[in-house]
Amino acid sequence: MPRPIAVQISIAAMRHNLAHIRSTLHHQVAPLGRPAPFIWAVIKANAYGHGIDQAVKGFAQADGLALLDINEAIRCRELGWTKPIMLLEGFFSIEDLAVLDEYTLTTVIHHWEQITWLKQAPRLRRPVAVMAKLNTGMNRLGFAPEQFERAYQALLELQQEGVISSLGKMTHFARADDDPSITYQQLLCFNTVTGALPGAISVCNSAGTLTASLQQHLPDHTEQWVRPGVCLYGASPFAAVSAHELGLQPAQTLMAEIISVRDIAAHQGVGYGHHFISPKPMRLGVVACGYADGYPRHAPSGTPIMVDGQLTRLVGRVSMDMLMVDLTDITSAQVGSQVVLWGQNGPSVDEVAQAAGTIGYELLCAVAARVPRQIIE
Ligand SMILES: *Cc1c(COP(=O)(O)O)cnc(C)c1O
Repeated sequence: MPRPIAVQISIAAMRHNLAHIRSTLHHQVAPLGRPAPFIWAVIKANAYGHGIDQAVKGFAQADGLALLDINEAIRCRELGWTKPIMLLEGFFSIEDLAVLDEYTLTTVIHHWEQITWLKQAPRLRRPVAVMAKLNTGMNRLGFAPEQFERAYQALLELQQEGVISSLGKMTHFARADDDPSITYQQLLCFNTVTGALPGAISVCNSAGTLTASLQQHLPDHTEQWVRPGVCLYGASPFAAVSAHELGLQPAQTLMAEIISVRDIAAHQGVGYGHHFISPKPMRLGVVACGYADGYPRHAPSGTPIMVDGQLTRLVGRVSMDMLMVDLTDITSAQVGSQVVLWGQNGPSVDEVAQAAGTIGYELLCAVAARVPRQIIE
């Protein structure tokens, strides 16, 4: 028997989450008399650890897919995806343009070199779709506000010359999850700089998409594309609101089994460094999951874990291939009992992440290649 650990990916949960986001958007914009925005499903980093193949199935109803890796984009085309695919970091060299052309990829343009490459490129078979990125305060990618219009004019000229097909405007929020006032400042900057320029807009990540009031600050009569990522996989972008409260379903479930059980006396150290000392006699279980599987080593004693359908806690340091749980109150638990580290019928990935001092995003992406995938249709 292989080591008893697996990660389940639920296509149904991915479908549900996308449909839920679509209906949420519909309810946000209906009172404003606007059509619902188009949705780029963000599937970077191997679809946040869920697999490109699963994403293409689960998000079949999305209007486009957004990612960074050209090979992942090619995979989507090979799987039969015919709708737009956007490269969120754009292209990295002039040679990439031939691949964009061959696979009809939409590209973000965020610095001048990319415009130069577009001008110098050998003739493309078809014009390329472009989203020009404005830096409104994230200070990561994008043209500075005072440079944006000049860059956009250069792109409009390339559009005239038939090098570019559609051209739109985008930006990215730094604090949509925790500080709306910063987000409104970023939106004000976006509207001021891009308001007079033609083209569709794209500004909202998951947190922006799930903040209803944002829509009132966006221009009327402009085609809008949102870019939700993490919420489509059933995790929350907000520290203070759970995915469950948002109506999302976990698409990723990390499960394992108890492979050993032991009783220990009071005042015994458990695991490496004896970081946990039993306050009383305890029953412990060893779980076939460790940091080499992607479980966070920083998770402290007390991190929630489900065993046999009952909530308990991690004790001691996480090892490479194993971790220990408290079974004192779970008398039914034995070797072979089912353990849910996070996901369906277990703690949420966000709860585990919070305990470990990180975010659900990191855990979803980090499940190791050695953990077998089980795809639930
Ligand atoms: C990752 C990413 C998103 C999606 O972010 P979530 O917080 O996962 O919704 C959207 N836009 C860009 C540019 C990104 O890099």
